[in-house]
Amino acid sequence: MPLDNSSSPTTKFNLVQVNGTWVRQREEGQRAEGRLSDAKIFEKKSHQGVSWTVVSPIVFTYKVIQSESLLDPRNDTLLWGHLDVEDLNTAHMSQPVKRFIVIDDTVHQLYGANVREYFDSRKVVYKVLSLPTTEENKSLELVTKILQEVHEFGIDRRSEPIIAIGGGVCLDVVGLAASLYRRRTPYIRVPTTLLAYVDASVGAKTGVNFAGGKNKLGSYVPPIATFLDRTFFQTLPRRQLSNGMAEILKMALMKHRGLYELLEAEGSKMLDSKLQCSDAASTCTRVAIETMLEELAPNLWEDDLDRLVDFGHLISPQLEMKVLPALLHGEAVNIDMCFMVYVSHLRGLLTAEEKGRIFRCMQGLELPVWHQDCTVNLIKNSLSERLKHSAGSLRMPLPTGLGQAEIFHDPIEEDILSVAHQMWTRELSPTLK
Ligand code: NAD
Repeated sequence: MPLDNSSSPTTKFNLVQVNGTWVRQREEGQRAEGRLSDAKIFEKKSHQGVSWTVVSPIVFTYKVIQSESLLDPRNDTLLWGHLDVEDLNTAHMSQPVKRFIVIDDTVHQLYGANVREYFDSRKVVYKVLSLPTTEENKSLELVTKILQEVHEFGIDRRSEPIIAIGGGVCLDVVGLAASLYRRRTPYIRVPTTLLAYVDASVGAKTGVNFAGGKNKLGSYVPPIATFLDRTFFQTLPRRQLSNGMAEILKMALMKHRGLYELLEAEGSKMLDSKLQCSDAASTCTRVAIETMLEELAPNLWEDDLDRLVDFGHLISPQLEMKVLPALLHGEAVNIDMCFMVYVSHLRGLLTAEEKGRIFRCMQGLELPVWHQDCTVNLIKNSLSERLKHSAGSLRMPLPTGLGQAEIFHDPIEEDILSVAHQMWTRELSPTLK
């Protein structure tokens, strides 16, 4: 049966809570005293019946807090940093304090004893679940394992957030488990890799790989808090630091020339110092997070498909999954960004000098710039997938200078794509150079 479009006027209702009961009130009518909701109900009558359209804005509030030595028993952040000052007293009164902690296996080997010492010294009833949260294991099975253990341990869904400590995989998997447990249980992210620190931990996305696709299952549920501590980087292999630098470079190229110039000048030294105690490292991580939050906060559910943060993420998901585990996430992102720099150059958006500078910056950050599996076919495939899922327009962010970008809607012209690929391969492939 066709939809009935015969037009009767739409009535807009506000919702007001009077003595504990929510009641509808015509927008134009007199307003009863009570709590006014942001939700609205629109009502339309037709000869088939009534239709209601519910508009219910949902607000997410979360904190991102930089703190030094999170695992120092004198530091309150891990236990109470997610609360506002006014909620602290009530929280302290509820005894015993319970926490469920999921930690990446490697991080557990390195920091497990400190984690236990922290919670022991605070007299917390806790369980530490150590899991092999690798990209190859990033699946629903890990999620179910967490849910089973959380269920057996028992937590109060309002006041006992689940804590995830690890890299992006651990944070994504725990986030998905928390978003499923009793429909939404608060969780806290403690990133221990640079990539997770500047990217996976500051937004709302959770997820696992599914049916060969990267992050095919997931949800948009932010943590109640993210606690950032750069001291975890001291044990990170250099390759993992470079990997994280790729996401910082993405933000720099897209919107912050100062950050870009900092990476150019200090990138290598920051890798040497594992981003510990230097002005460059603290500026670099702070600006990376600020620029990321600027792009994510207004678009937490990615309703707006024009996203600068997608730079480097059009081709890389297919590439990363195809060669798994050969490339780390940031490495695949960098290869994608590097190819797109050639597209920008051929479209006249970047000069040859800028292209060269970006390439040298990537080299300074010790990131791969080319990959044999990133073929013209894979690129075309990835872009057509993108087209399918982005409302008929490519929405491709491209650099238009150092620290500035635009979103382009048209597909890459056939000739530009193949010339860009040839030029990129000729200049950067290790065998053809
Ligand atoms: P990862 O979680 O696999 O961690 C990388 C490796 O570092 C692991 O072997 C881990 O055991 C080890 N490790 C972690 N902390 C360590 C430490 N302090 N010292 C020594 N070793 C340590 O990878 P990642 O790069 O952190 O994250 C990549 C994942 O993040 C991908 O699955 C990607 O999809 C996801 N991601 C999610 C978002 C999001 O918005 N949710 C954004 C970006 C990336």
